Amino acid sequence: MNDTRKPRIFIIYTGGTIGMVENAQNQLVPFDFNHLIDNVPKIGKLNYEIGNYQFPQPIDSSNMNPTYWGQIVKAVADNYDNYDGFVILHGTDTMAYTASALSFMLENLRKPVIITGSQLPIGSTRQDGTENLITALEIAAAKCPETGEPMIQEVAISFENYLVRGNRSTKKSSTNFRAFKSYNYPALGTMDLHIDFNLPYLMRPQTDEPLSPQYNMDTSVLSLFLFPGITEEVVKSQLATPGIKAVVLRTFGAGNAPTEQWFLDALAEAIKKGIIVLNITQCVNGGDEQKRYRTGDLMARAGVTSGSDMTFEAGVTKLMYLLGKGLSTEEVKKYLETDMVGELTE
Ligand code: ASP
Repeated sequence: MNDTRKPRIFIIYTGGTIGMVENAQNQLVPFDFNHLIDNVPKIGKLNYEIGNYQFPQPIDSSNMNPTYWGQIVKAVADNYDNYDGFVILHGTDTMAYTASALSFMLENLRKPVIITGSQLPIGSTRQDGTENLITALEIAAAKCPETGEPMIQEVAISFENYLVRGNRSTKKSSTNFRAFKSYNYPALGTMDLHIDFNLPYLMRPQTDEPLSPQYNMDTSVLSLFLFPGITEEVVKSQLATPGIKAVVLRTFGAGNAPTEQWFLDALAEAIKKGIIVLNITQCVNGGDEQKRYRTGDLMARAGVTSGSDMTFEAGVTKLMYLLGKGLSTEEVKKYLETDMVGELTE
């Protein structure tokens, strides 16, 4: 299919290093979208129609939260029919969380939502922002040559040489230009001399339903990171945090944890109270196989839900999304173990 009109791409600028400048104390602080675009005159050469929305106050992504995610979702939803793809400029620190959250919140997404940023500000002499931005725009505009449909139909992070599924991504380096990695799912593409898409691994949503933006994210979630020597007092006080509905338990290896009775009893008691306990290993590669070792199996028997090979970022945002839908505990548990938008291997 030959489509001769210019690609239409909508850029959402949230802040992050890519658009930052130094203040009088030599600290990097967020700056505005026009500064960023002025530093990338090459954008004009792409010959795209570009629309944009910027956060009223661009942020360092360490301040990202579900209210901001809602603003991004709204910007995508309001412009969904008029644009071919979306590029989100975002700080790297919480980019993997935002990518994961958006993959759930943008239900029935069938257009590219490409998130990028940079390790150095775009105004610096040496920097990675220009190439990251231009590449993200090209990926957002890419179409399948045979069908004319968008090449990418999901939320993805484009950074340096790799395009990775958003809800499989993790920030792995605070200094390396290759800052993101998908440890449990192949990259969706590589960007070297050419941009090559990894066709068998791209999401092809089996739905004709219109985009259905979701805004309710329930943050009654706790993360409990295990380590040898963690005390009964700490575990019990964390699990007794008022108002929590779910705990992401960061376990060892293939989803293992101590078999001491006080620990198993504390989990069982929390689960009896209706708290969902989601098992996500501390390992970045591989995942939780609760039944493989006795240590894990005892947790499964206590009612702990397996997070399979989900990232922590995907697990925590998926919980917020499912709890935000007001589902029953049993339904939330069922969906946690179900692959909804490519976030886990069943
Ligand atoms: N602190 C910055 C942020 O996440 C880091 C970055 O953009 O790379 O906004």
